[in-house]
Amino acid sequence: AVVTRFAPSPTGYLHIGGARTALFNWLYARGRGGKFLLRIEDTDRARSTPEATAAILKGLDWLGLDHDGEVISQFERAPRHAEVAHALLAKGAAYKCFASQEEIEAFREKAKEEGRSTLFRSPWRDADPATHPDAPFVIRLRTPEEGETLIEDEVQGTVRIRNDQLDDMILLRSDGTPVYMLAVVVDDHDMGVTHVIRGDDHLNNAARQMGIYTAMGWPLPVYAHIPLIHGPDGKKLSKRHGALGVDEYQKLGYPSAGMRNYLARLGWSHGDDEFFTDAQAKEWFDLSGIGKSPARLDFKKLENVCGQHIAVGDDAALLQEIEAYLEASGQPALSEAQKSGMTRGMYCLKDRSKTFPELLEKAHFILAETPLVPDEKAAKNLDAVSRGILASLTPQLQSASWSREELEGVTARFAEEQNTKFGKLAGPLRAALAGRSVTPSVFDMMLVLGKEESLLRLEQAAA
Ligand code: GLU
Repeated sequence: AVVTRFAPSPTGYLHIGGARTALFNWLYARGRGGKFLLRIEDTDRARSTPEATAAILKGLDWLGLDHDGEVISQFERAPRHAEVAHALLAKGAAYKCFASQEEIEAFREKAKEEGRSTLFRSPWRDADPATHPDAPFVIRLRTPEEGETLIEDEVQGTVRIRNDQLDDMILLRSDGTPVYMLAVVVDDHDMGVTHVIRGDDHLNNAARQMGIYTAMGWPLPVYAHIPLIHGPDGKKLSKRHGALGVDEYQKLGYPSAGMRNYLARLGWSHGDDEFFTDAQAKEWFDLSGIGKSPARLDFKKLENVCGQHIAVGDDAALLQEIEAYLEASGQPALSEAQKSGMTRGMYCLKDRSKTFPELLEKAHFILAETPLVPDEKAAKNLDAVSRGILASLTPQLQSASWSREELEGVTARFAEEQNTKFGKLAGPLRAALAGRSVTPSVFDMMLVLGKEESLLRLEQAAA
């Protein structure tokens, strides 16, 4: 069975690139009835914070990337990592090195002077244990000096690393703490990880990590090193591109389904499909569809995809997500009355709204306090002539049964009587019903507001 994992270092927010890595692992596992595990790589005690872990969990939660089992703390597993280092020592696949920092420096200086490789070659590699001093030591992996390590990567193809470019890396420091590279391999093995999908900044680590797998006689995982995400200008993603943490996308009001869809497309493709559901993404996602070159962030595409997801979203789920958006962006919560209005109006609000702020702008006629204060454009549609028109239309609507057909019929007949076009009535009606000039259709607003409230607003505007 497939087991993937996301292994963030808790040193900051959940980065957009990390979110995509998590998504790829989640999709790969979920589409194959596998497991998606979460490991917090908190071995760097100085830089790891509980706040960062909380922010990462929150970001994953917002994106709906649920994981299986407990959250694993890498730091807590240090004794197990040390155990494996000692097992390698016992097997002869690793050795104790007593070289001091000064000796290593001296070795490097000399190598440099003599024009040789400055990779440290420990004199203790082949020393007889009987000659070992009673002194602090590190445990080093015995790396082959000849040949090549071949990384068979699902994205990068076969990557060759010459073994003489790898030194005998330290597994366990002299204070007995494991190095990161060892921790990753032991954790991935113990967690049963079958597929390692991560950023290609880890490609070189794979060669070293494979050395540990091989020395332990453990089966290798499948590797897929994915290219980084670049900004719209094709340059490495940085602060100046804006919105680096996923929490910022929530605060900007992107729906999480749209975000998943967009992130999935960022570096992976399925033909020309831009819009797809979670179910389709899980079914379609594969490693062979991942591109070799960095994907570029494209906010226009993101918004298009988000708009499509809002349009087909489930009304109740959308309302819930909007409430979460309001909270995340520090805006006041909806009242019960506003919520029930939003529920009645969602069918028309979700049409052509690319983000939640856009949708809420359309919902102004539901959310605004009454009596409405029209904005500048709307006020222009409420001049004396328009108010006169509204005053004569209102009694006719009064006798209507408030179905869409009848409202349309009454309004059309009225326009005919007045020798005008419906288009001429729309502006004053929008202004009266919403106090705005950009709104859902006047009939949708009348139906959502109901007869009493609609007539009240028309009368107030005509007065
Ligand atoms: N902790 C590493 C990172 O955040 C990931 C290591 C891995 O996926 O193997 O970049």
